[in-house]
Amino acid sequence: MVRFSFRSLSWLGLCLALTGFGISQSTAKKNPPSIAEAKAFIDEAEARLMALSVDASRANWVQSTHITEDTEILSAQANERAIAAGVDFAKRATRFDGLNLPADMARKMKLLKLSLTLAAPSNPKESEELTRLVASMEGTYGKGKYCPEGQEKCLTLEDLTRLLANNRDPKQLLDGWVGWHRIAPPMRNDFKRYVELANKGARELGFADTGAMWRSKYDMPPDAFAKELDRLWNQVRPFYVSLHAYVRNRLRATYGDVVPATGPIPAHLLGNMWAQSWENIYPLVAPSGADPGFDLTEILKKRNTDDRQMVKYGEQFFTSLGFKPLPKTFWERSQFVKPRDREVVCHASAWDIDNVDDLRIKMCIDITAEDFNTIHHELGHNFYQRSYNQQPMLFRDSANDGFHEAVGDTIALSITPEYLVKLGLLDKSPDTSKDIGLLLKTALEKIAFLPFGLLIDQWRWKVFSGEIPAEKYNETWWQLKEKYQGVAPPVARTKDDFDPGAKYHVAANVPYTRYFLAHILQFQFHRALAQSAGCQGPLNRCSIYQSKEAGRRLDAMLSLGLSKPWPDALEAITGQRQMDATAVLDYFAPLQKWLDEQNKGKPVGW
Ligand SMILES: [Zn+2]
Repeated sequence: MVRFSFRSLSWLGLCLALTGFGISQSTAKKNPPSIAEAKAFIDEAEARLMALSVDASRANWVQSTHITEDTEILSAQANERAIAAGVDFAKRATRFDGLNLPADMARKMKLLKLSLTLAAPSNPKESEELTRLVASMEGTYGKGKYCPEGQEKCLTLEDLTRLLANNRDPKQLLDGWVGWHRIAPPMRNDFKRYVELANKGARELGFADTGAMWRSKYDMPPDAFAKELDRLWNQVRPFYVSLHAYVRNRLRATYGDVVPATGPIPAHLLGNMWAQSWENIYPLVAPSGADPGFDLTEILKKRNTDDRQMVKYGEQFFTSLGFKPLPKTFWERSQFVKPRDREVVCHASAWDIDNVDDLRIKMCIDITAEDFNTIHHELGHNFYQRSYNQQPMLFRDSANDGFHEAVGDTIALSITPEYLVKLGLLDKSPDTSKDIGLLLKTALEKIAFLPFGLLIDQWRWKVFSGEIPAEKYNETWWQLKEKYQGVAPPVARTKDDFDPGAKYHVAANVPYTRYFLAHILQFQFHRALAQSAGCQGPLNRCSIYQSKEAGRRLDAMLSLGLSKPWPDALEAITGQRQMDATAVLDYFAPLQKWLDEQNKGKPVGW
């Protein structure tokens, strides 16, 4: 579900090779630069970053599709070169601060400075320490294992993920949950020091702290952006609370008093280590008679669909909207199936190797409904990448970091029974009374995620700003988990625990708000496109397949890339300049009604 681009490099490795930073401010003042110099600087940055990004993409592609010690080293080196150049340009861009530039140039300067997720202090010793800390925390996370007492075998996160997803014995679930969270306390002191140093670096770049630096990427003042997120959350919160109440009640039916009748739900019972999405417990909460009456996996298998045909279905979706077919090289260079003779990264991803049209996907396709979905999602990234390839290098990305993921998911929302009928995969679509099961499953995945997607950075922003001191790291983490998610720790926690560090994105310094945004935006995009496709039915049954008008609107947004502030891009596709979570409510309206009936007379809230 990821895509590879220059900008993604800045979260892969952060800032290495930070020496040689400090372009002296006094020199800049003595010789104020001209607009012509600024233009030359931008031209140099775009040409250099383009070349390095293509090199890095090639090295990373080979590494991901042919894992050996050598390809790992080569890709790490290529990434380091690209990141170092990005950091260098970010620092050099500050020389042009205060210069009155044409809008396009000013935006490019800003993007250069904002491309970092971590700013190292100019003191080389501190910079080196910060780099080491982040690498060490990510390493601790990556190597994390739980070794149950008296057993030979240690459990990896993969093992524990499966346990949390499938096991229904509360004791074993608790054991797995506690076991995994033990990897994090050793990171606690490193994390504290990382916060200090990262803030120092952010302040040198002129931001109040690292959190403010992250929030500055959204074309509005950092604090206004935080308020915007609260507003969106409050739009969907009542629906989340209904879902929470229903799930809590059903979990009580399975687990009894381990689940309180009125309080927050214990975090180990929701099918996921972080309680971030709940689709794995669908069998425990499924309504009776909600079987849609068909199984896409079975249908695809029965028809002997192969991997190429699976991807062809995805491509056909986009050509039906009026997009050009994928280039010949896509079919020659992509990895669709797991090779038999070597190690590869199977996690699905979409690539744009040359930042023009060397598009590829890398998957290990299984003939399943899930991968049918994933292919549509990944191709969403590819078509986005190709649509903005006419933009200058620095604008070849999504309008903000939530948009890329949202586009892939928007396309996947159009995989409706009616769409499958049009493809000839299904004879007729089931009537909408069968939709509750499907909607509930989607809500367990996407609505349950919303408060989680929000709280990770709520916590980190407060940590970076100093509002949360180190001795309160864990306590406030759980306060936010309870406030937003209505989820509680399954056993008492102490200040020596460091539960945030048991989540990858915290340990590895990866901002998280983009996932919250993507989960809101995809419904807003879907509603707007469904309207332009003239869909009259319930929103969850609308597919934009074969609508040239929806395709035109979609492309109007995609082709802007990052060239304009994101409200312009949002307006191009939806006509609205504000993000709007009411589309979420529209999409799930039948489920909301059903949940209200189920919850009647039962406690709601925590
Ligand atoms: Zn994706």
